[in-house]
Amino acid sequence: MRKQPLQAKQGEVAFRKDLAQQHFRKKTVFHHEYSTSEMARVLREKMERCRQDFIRLRNLGITLSPFLEIGSGYGQAALLLADEFQAEGFASDIALDPLKEISRVAKTRKLSRLPRLLVFDAEAIPFPDNSLPFVFCYQTLHHFPHPLSVTREVHRVLSPNGVFFFAEEPVAQSFNLKLWYRPTKLRWWETMLKTMLILPFISRIGKTEVDHHIIEDAFTLKVWDQALEPFEIMETRLEPFPFGPAGSLEKRNPLNRIFLFFLGGGIRGIVRKKGREVRTSFPPLPRRQAGRFACPSCRNRPLLTNTKNGFRCPQCADVYPVKNNIPLLIRKQERTSLYG
Ligand SMILES: [Zn+2]
Repeated sequence: MRKQPLQAKQGEVAFRKDLAQQHFRKKTVFHHEYSTSEMARVLREKMERCRQDFIRLRNLGITLSPFLEIGSGYGQAALLLADEFQAEGFASDIALDPLKEISRVAKTRKLSRLPRLLVFDAEAIPFPDNSLPFVFCYQTLHHFPHPLSVTREVHRVLSPNGVFFFAEEPVAQSFNLKLWYRPTKLRWWETMLKTMLILPFISRIGKTEVDHHIIEDAFTLKVWDQALEPFEIMETRLEPFPFGPAGSLEKRNPLNRIFLFFLGGGIRGIVRKKGREVRTSFPPLPRRQAGRFACPSCRNRPLLTNTKNGFRCPQCADVYPVKNNIPLLIRKQERTSLYG
């Protein structure tokens, strides 16, 4: 299976750093991305959507704490979960700079309970097997060549019966000429093509990301099936975009499939790690010790120990540093090229 190339990881780190400047410090770096005031509105809307999602999950009786969010960005989802739903857990991202803005978002939104912050690569999650009851992500899986490279890791770290929730991921549109990538804020001629209803059939979204070598993919339903294969599906929802009847992966709705074929759309899902009695490598972590990390470089994920400057692996002897109070739990080779 193809993994995310280093160049894409570098793009994530560099681009998200510049974008955070524009989103929070009123600097204009990219003309077709949101400004500081626009981003404030977008974050408000995102948090409202997250609130509805967490209410849904809570109503299904799903344990939301301790949680791990992957690809947190500015942490709006993790913040909401920590503050309004009294959950404890981690907001994480491969990019350090967006995570540094979380305290600012919390202050603006008057949220007092913050998640703990972590930098790592979602293809090598620095937690031991069977250690977390709830993992989730928004708009993250489509930045990898195949979502299975992440969902396999999620499956590994989930405790037996643990739940993975993902949302706002794209389903590929088969009917698209893919002539170019369009930016978040459309250019005038793209707006015209949008009015004529042809824009979504000839271009794809994510220009600024792709310019930075970030992967902007959309997966077919077959790929989504493969990505969720390790899990037991509780519910999924497939929504054609911009319109069309909703469906799901588990129950085939022909009309939904036709709309998805022509328009593409979005997918979200709640899935569970199969099996009641999976043999754990060690007993499930008590709540207060949920911060015990495992070495992302060593295959068997030995537990890291605390040192003065960070966390040390007893097996490979690597020391993972802490920057701005945020542990950088990335494999040495990549860590050096991403963070020096
Ligand atoms: Zn190690």
